[in-house]
Amino acid sequence: MGHYTEKGVGSKLIDVNGKEYLDFISGIAVCNLGHCHPKVVEAVEEQMKKLWHVSNLFQIEGQEQVAQLLVDHSVLDYVFFCNSGAEANEAAIKLARKSTGKHHIVSLTNSFHGRTLGSMSATGQDKIHQGFGPLLTEFTYIEMNDPKALEEAVTEKTAAIMVEVIQGEGGIRLMSNEYAEALTSICEKHNCLLIVDEVQTGIGRTGTAFAYEQFNLSPDIVTVAKGLGNGFPVGALLGKASLKEAFQPGSHGSTFGGNPLAMAAAKAVLTEVFQKDLLQSVEEKGNWFQQQLQQKVGHFQVVDEIRGKGLMVGIACHTEVAPVIKACLEKGLLVLPAGPKVLRILPPLVVTKDELELAGDILADVFATIEQQNSVNI
Ligand SMILES: *Cc1c(COP(=O)(O)O)cnc(C)c1O
Repeated sequence: MGHYTEKGVGSKLIDVNGKEYLDFISGIAVCNLGHCHPKVVEAVEEQMKKLWHVSNLFQIEGQEQVAQLLVDHSVLDYVFFCNSGAEANEAAIKLARKSTGKHHIVSLTNSFHGRTLGSMSATGQDKIHQGFGPLLTEFTYIEMNDPKALEEAVTEKTAAIMVEVIQGEGGIRLMSNEYAEALTSICEKHNCLLIVDEVQTGIGRTGTAFAYEQFNLSPDIVTVAKGLGNGFPVGALLGKASLKEAFQPGSHGSTFGGNPLAMAAAKAVLTEVFQKDLLQSVEEKGNWFQQQLQQKVGHFQVVDEIRGKGLMVGIACHTEVAPVIKACLEKGLLVLPAGPKVLRILPPLVVTKDELELAGDILADVFATIEQQNSVNI
C-alpha cells in the first residue's frame, strides 16, 4: 500500500486517507480469521490484564490447552512453542538430527523454510542464500514430484526429508499424490523422518486443519506459525511421541516461546479455525473461487494455470505479475507474488462469497487491461 495502514477489520484494510482495500494477502497467510477478530482481541485483552510472561521455568496453562488442540487435530503427540516459522523449522532440524543421530537432510528446490542459518540451509533457493557465506553442511535439494530424484538422494544416512505439500513462496506448487506416496515409502525404507513445513499451509488455510491430511501423509514433525496467532507472533513444532526423549529441558528452548499472551491468541484462533463448519466452508469457498477465476480470468492469454487448495490460490502467468499486483492495488485489491510469474491469493478464511466475487471481477478487469496493452505493444 502506498500509505500507512491504519486499521484492519475482517477482510478489509483502511489506510490513513480512509481508502479501503480488500485484503487478499492476510499479512501473508497470518490473519486467517481476518483483522482484529473479536474473539482473538477479547482473549488477548483479557490475558493482558492477568499475566504476560513467566518463562518456561513455570508451567503455563495456555500452553497445555493450545498443545491439546493441536494434538487433537493432528497425528502428532506433543508440541514445542517458539515465536516464528524459521524458529519452528530450526527446532525441527535440530530434533531430526538429535533423535536419529544422523545429519543429512533432504529438501526441495523452490522451497522456503525461513531465514535463520539452519532454516535457510534447508531452503532450496539460491537467491535466498546469496551473500551469506557457507551454509550448514549435509543438505541436499531435489526437485519436487520426481520420485526418482528422491530415491537417489535419500540414504541410510538421511535424518529427515523436509517438504511443503504446497510450496507457498515457491509459487503455489502442489505436491502430487504419487510423490506423497513415494515420500512415505522412502522414509520407511531408510528409517528417516518426514518433516512437513505447514507454516503457510497450516491452521485451516487449505480447507483442513493441516494440509498434509489431503496428501495422505503421516509426518513425524509438523511446523506451524503464520496463522497460529492471527498476527500475534507465535510458532510451534508438533512431533510424534517417539521423538519426545530427544528434546528434554536443557536441550532446546525459548525464552518467549509459548508465553501466556501468545497462547491466549493461539487458543482463541484454534477454537475458531478447527470447527468443522469453518474448515468445510474454506474448502467450499476455495473450490468455488477457483471456478470463478477459471471463468473470469482463465481465458486470458497471459494466464497459464489457476491452482491451489482451499483459500491458498495461485494464478501462474506467462509474464511477470508485478504490474498485475500494482493495478489490483489501485483498484483496492491486495494480492502478492509467489516468485516472479505467479500471483498468490490468500484471503482470510472468513471471506464472503461477495468479496471473492468482487476480487474475481477486479482481477478480470486488470488482466483485460494488461492483455489490451500487450496487443498494442505487439
Ligand atoms: C513464512 C514461512 C516460513 C518462515 O516463517 P517466519 O515466521 O517468517 O520465520 C517458513 N516456512 C514457510 C513455508 C513459510 O511460508
